Amino acid sequence: MMRRPIIAGNWKLNKTPSQTAAFIRETAPLVSGARCEIVVCPTAACLFAAREATRGSNIALGAQNMFYEDAGAFTGEISPDSLLELGVSYVIVGHSERRALFGESDEIVNKKTLKAIEKRLKPIVCVGESALQRQLGVTEETVRIQTKLALAGLPARDAEDVAIAYEPIWAIGTGVNATSAEANSTIRCIRAVLGEIYTAELATKIRILYGGSMNAGNARDLLSASDIDGGLIGGASLNSSDFAKIALSV
Ligand code: PEP
Repeated sequence: MMRRPIIAGNWKLNKTPSQTAAFIRETAPLVSGARCEIVVCPTAACLFAAREATRGSNIALGAQNMFYEDAGAFTGEISPDSLLELGVSYVIVGHSERRALFGESDEIVNKKTLKAIEKRLKPIVCVGESALQRQLGVTEETVRIQTKLALAGLPARDAEDVAIAYEPIWAIGTGVNATSAEANSTIRCIRAVLGEIYTAELATKIRILYGGSMNAGNARDLLSASDIDGGLIGGASLNSSDFAKIALSV
């Protein structure tokens, strides 16, 4: 396959540094033969422990968030340079929990995406419709607007370093996943938007993941869809054997 899939675990606010290290040490041998890129995204406070534990493995590190300025009076924020020093290569941007709970607007998502690219961190930009937007039949419009706003000002030469995660909000943490056909269809729409922003050819090179109640039981079906290039996994990424099963089902 032209696009190398990514399986990324978003741990949210779970695990301490020692639990992080133990999880990674347990998981590394299970996923050493995986064909996809594997990323774990612990909390910022656990990144140092994670870095030590991932050494020599095929598990890359991601952050769950990052600020869009390098330094200054931004109490509580996380700087891109600190992430780089901690060995981070991916950063989740615009997760629906950050949008809903921490006021992250499309404009902020755009600033973070551009800053990540400037720093050579690879952003995983989350888009997805709410239950109401789905019910009203505006899923495609929603992800279309979010995608265009997130990538505004991003030059074509950098577009391949971005991954989009299509995460329907109604599917996150609910145990109800989008079917592979539903997810694939919305992801194809996102790819068409990328084709409008850039070119159709470039759009075929950008990875688009699915996230929302992906687990060891449904991963193979979801990941076999033509346009789904991996998964962003919350709950099921907290269990080593489940996460490994998902990674090995690509
Ligand atoms: C997420 O938070 O990105 C996510 C997809 O969560 P879950 O897998 O638990 O639905």
